[in-house]
Amino acid sequence: MKTKTFGCSILLLYLFSLTAAVAQDLGAQFKKVKDGIYVYAAVLNEANSTIILSQDGVVLIDTGQSPKDSHVVMAAVKKLTSQPVRYIIHTEPHPDHAMGDFVFSPPALVIGHAGSTDSMKASESFSPARIEKLMSTSPEMRAAFNGFRLVTPQIEYRDRLSLKVGERALELYYLKNVHSEADTAIWLPQERVLFTAASVGVKRFGNHRPFVSIPDTLSAIKMMKALNPEVVIPGHGDPGTVKILDDMESYYNKLMDGVAQMVKQGKSLDEIKKELKIPGTEDWEGKDRLGNNIEAAYRGVMGR
Ligand SMILES: [Zn+2]
Repeated sequence: MKTKTFGCSILLLYLFSLTAAVAQDLGAQFKKVKDGIYVYAAVLNEANSTIILSQDGVVLIDTGQSPKDSHVVMAAVKKLTSQPVRYIIHTEPHPDHAMGDFVFSPPALVIGHAGSTDSMKASESFSPARIEKLMSTSPEMRAAFNGFRLVTPQIEYRDRLSLKVGERALELYYLKNVHSEADTAIWLPQERVLFTAASVGVKRFGNHRPFVSIPDTLSAIKMMKALNPEVVIPGHGDPGTVKILDDMESYYNKLMDGVAQMVKQGKSLDEIKKELKIPGTEDWEGKDRLGNNIEAAYRGVMGR
């Protein structure tokens, strides 16, 4: 009897170590942020792709920087579970988040905010010429495009969507004017995990398109902070805590105040771009985009 119990514990121990080994086997580019939630990026600051396991299948948040990454994510899914990928949620419709959807769909259904399909169809980035350029970067990349077709969201929601998959609950929130034509934050209230899309970066200046509004971005940050997340996963950059939101909020506030003060002093946009320094951003990546950020802040100051 005793031997049997002992045998049982050995077996359990063995099974446990097998499960632990699975997470490690995924490689250093995968970061486990919670039970069954793995964030992947091959290179720091490339687009994140996240695997969320559930009893009823897998949910992916974005499909990786390129189809090469989508195949890496697919291989990891297969190591983790025998269940299929059921849903892909786009944080945004740009190619570094959505080009590899064809690797999973069908059977996976793609969800994005209203405007995603229009954005993808109109985008130069998904044109045959651009795809050929990307494929020509390496034989591996060309192979990764095998079977490529443009997959656009089968489901487009407006403003807010609740999704239940197995034991997981996911809340989707539209983020207005923060980065693309259709940005989505995803909140898992049970796990307290938040996906911010590209509304914030980690020690990195974003490139703001003409419709991006810093006041709207500050409202989005406020809304996301109010959710009280434990884990924060940006569109690009390492997962972290609410500090990612705090740092970006502080940066945008300093940027808006700095620009507003100089406008008050009668300075032109060109003068502001030459003179304005934002303390605390000395070690940030993409300094050449500060001018672009100042332009966005200038629009915000003039419009308020
Ligand atoms: Zn983007």
